[in-house]
Amino acid sequence: MTAITVLAGGIGGARFTRGLLRHLADTDPDATVTVIVNTGDDMWLDGLRVCPDLDTVMYTLGGGINEEQGWGRPEESRRASAEIAAYGRGWSWFTLGDLDLATHIVRSDLLRSGSTLSEATEFLCRRWQPGARLLPMSDTPVETHARLAIDADEHRAGELIHFEEWWVRYRATVPVTGFVQVGLESAAPAPGVVDAILTADLVILPPSNPVVSVGTILAVPGIREALRSTAAAVVGVSPIIAGAAVRGMADACLNTIGVQTSAEAVGLHYGSRAGNGVLDGWLVDETDAGALPALAAAGIRAVAVPLWMRDAPTTAALAAEALALGALGAHPAHRAHA
Ligand code: GDP
Ligand code: CA
Repeated sequence: MTAITVLAGGIGGARFTRGLLRHLADTDPDATVTVIVNTGDDMWLDGLRVCPDLDTVMYTLGGGINEEQGWGRPEESRRASAEIAAYGRGWSWFTLGDLDLATHIVRSDLLRSGSTLSEATEFLCRRWQPGARLLPMSDTPVETHARLAIDADEHRAGELIHFEEWWVRYRATVPVTGFVQVGLESAAPAPGVVDAILTADLVILPPSNPVVSVGTILAVPGIREALRSTAAAVVGVSPIIAGAAVRGMADACLNTIGVQTSAEAVGLHYGSRAGNGVLDGWLVDETDAGALPALAAAGIRAVAVPLWMRDAPTTAALAAEALALGALGAHPAHRAHA
């Protein structure tokens, strides 16, 4: 039975995994998929624990996602948020829809009564039946913060603000000097995380944000080491196509850590497992085929294929390419090889 482990952020990781599950349903129905999800974006809002990436993955795989937005629930209302605002509380820059709020209330209740985040996630997934095992990267709170390079509203230069405030309130346009994962030193991988990497037949880094999604997961002590030592192949899918983030502001994160916004630079940033990195294989878009020689020279087996997840069939086809690269087997002749 094939075991596949995916390290995911929100939208990109969720959509890729949905395509992977669709492909496996047709080709390998006994395969199991574990998704290790970034929790660096988690925060307390109005007394509720909000886990943006876990919820995006859970709703996307469970059929409850707002497809246009890529996060939250469809047919939402904002009545509770409006009431909270009427008390002069809440966050004007972060919307919590009424249906979504129910998820946060249940999760927060479970956490307050002593459940771990893993247990709370498992409980929520009993309703959503995502078709994959969802594991938070850690049960210990780790929250990504951005250090402001300039003053912004009530914040001063040098101050750390929560990543979601930088991302959602400031649309990543206020310059920052770096990211800090608050709580990381004392964080351990959640139960099952290291095992899911070590016992997998294939580990996939989907097209998620390389800095604040996959980068944060890899920073949890022990996870990067597990990726480097697993007998499974580790393959990644570039979130960058033709020098641009497909959606969102991943380029702002890459700029901040001094990595160019290109499929080649991100692949080299992850690095080859033959060196000090985490990748055996790397999928770049057809338009980025020029990056193949440099990636090959760095010890990464790179292949150029269509990377746009336009709909269910193109996303399933992309997942199939990741599986093929992971098998390091024969590839159809039409594709360019490193
Ligand atoms: P977030 O937590 O919701 O920001 O989601 P992720 O961490 O999973 O990463 C989102 C990233 O996925 C975006 O910044 C894009 O670079 C990438 N992405 C989104 N859609 C596509 C797509 O269709 N193809 C590829 N290759 N990347 C995509
Ligand atoms: Ca996220």
